[in-house]
Amino acid sequence: MITKTEIDTMLNSYDQNKITVGTLGSHSALNIFKGAKEEGFDTVCVCKKKSEIVYKRFPVADQIIIVDDFKELLNENMQTILKQQNTILVPHGSFNAYVGTKNIIDNLKIPLFGNRELLYWETDRETQRKWLKNAGLTLPKTFESPDDIDRLVIAKFPGAMGGKGYFIADSAKSFHKKAKDMLKRGHITQQNLENIHLQEYVVGVNVYPLYFYSPLTGEVELLGMDRRYESTVDSIGKIPANEQLQANINPTYTVVGNFPIVARESLLPDIIRMGENVVEESKKIAPPGLIGPFCLEMVITDDMKIYTFEISARIVAGSNVGIGTSPYAYLKYGEGMYMGRRIAREIKNAKEQDMLEKVVY
Ligand code: AMP
Repeated sequence: MITKTEIDTMLNSYDQNKITVGTLGSHSALNIFKGAKEEGFDTVCVCKKKSEIVYKRFPVADQIIIVDDFKELLNENMQTILKQQNTILVPHGSFNAYVGTKNIIDNLKIPLFGNRELLYWETDRETQRKWLKNAGLTLPKTFESPDDIDRLVIAKFPGAMGGKGYFIADSAKSFHKKAKDMLKRGHITQQNLENIHLQEYVVGVNVYPLYFYSPLTGEVELLGMDRRYESTVDSIGKIPANEQLQANINPTYTVVGNFPIVARESLLPDIIRMGENVVEESKKIAPPGLIGPFCLEMVITDDMKIYTFEISARIVAGSNVGIGTSPYAYLKYGEGMYMGRRIAREIKNAKEQDMLEKVVY
């Protein structure tokens, strides 16, 4: 594991008046780069050839470095280039998914915005549940084996597959039938099935609050809220029930995009306190705890019960719905604040207060 001392040594070798904000070209990179530019930073985008067009058409990356594989971020020469440019990397979902959490923690020597140890906590479902439970949140029940299924469950797989291949079952029998179908359709592999996570399916609506915790001010900010647009589950309602039954549709949850949400105001006290409790618990499990953006994935039932089924300890792609502004960011900051910019603002504030080491790990 790269130690905090190594990161701080690297940071001290930086020209802190010439910080570059870098990230991988995918996920929430446009959000991060635009925010960095608006706060006066130069930006560097490490991306694949096929995505270059994005970062050329939207002029937010000052420099584009093309790689064949995101793992090249770990190469010595790549790290030297980033270091020479005094780069702070902002991790997003593609870091865990394509570079690998262990690789990031053990081999990425470039300072990361946020607490790198929590990236590990969020990728392991068991540690994640422990964190959320200890923070006092209500979680859906989990089932050890398909034979234990006694209600509606959602079957999930490890890694950030973006909901791909997830399916619903209500008994061991329906589980095996659907798993077979998903295998046949190529949505999942045998290995996925061996690492399956069975979770009670909570009937309600999804709400994903987008938070930011500033270690400089000690405040948890609510900067936005979204829900996902998932193929094919979000298209089921367009098909009449009769035809649904005839077509024997087995929907999955592949994320295609996101919608912004505002919650009824009476839900906000709970939503804000839940964010605060998660931050307090994070300080115990991986000191100094959360830094910057995080997101709780919730289902809210018709009796206003809030279940939390996942946490992301970094910027989520759902925050892209707020590029420019969102109602909550507007309430707090007025015009023009959003997650990517809030990250850059924190880096800027930390630098001005000579406290950069408080926000990078
Ligand atoms: P995830 O990859 O865990 O974020 O889940 C993907 C999608 O599955 C979510 O956006 C929800 O639509 C749905 N989902 C996940 N877990 C649950 C649950 N316990 N109850 C109801 N829906 C869920």
